[in-house]
Amino acid sequence: MERSEEEWKERLTPEQYRVLRKKGTELPYTGKYYHTKTKGTYRCAACGQELFFSEDKYDSGSGWPSFVRPCKADHLEYSEDEKLGYPRIEVLCSNCHSHLGHVFEDGPKPTGKRFCINSICLKLEES
Ligand SMILES: [Zn+2]
Repeated sequence: MERSEEEWKERLTPEQYRVLRKKGTELPYTGKYYHTKTKGTYRCAACGQELFFSEDKYDSGSGWPSFVRPCKADHLEYSEDEKLGYPRIEVLCSNCHSHLGHVFEDGPKPTGKRFCINSICLKLEES
């Protein structure tokens, strides 16, 4: 799915645009879904693609919603990010290529992954 930057500006709030399209980060401990334990499916706030299931959400203490795995491997895509001067793996929505957060290798077993995702990039569909 391709949209122009003008279209994204119209569809998203300024803060969503800053994070999703300009690869920003919401302040830790402030996001809407940080403490959420409601059951459901987290979708991409920009395009609606399913990204994560609530069963895979855990409290990492990082200040952002954290997940151990995506709902489907091919619903995410990855890119190397050197913005902070060391390599991190950026996580994007595979459908609309919006920035979601980063993935780290310090998650709980069995996946060992921590998908650290900005709340503002997600929309929870309660089940
Ligand atoms: Zn998307």
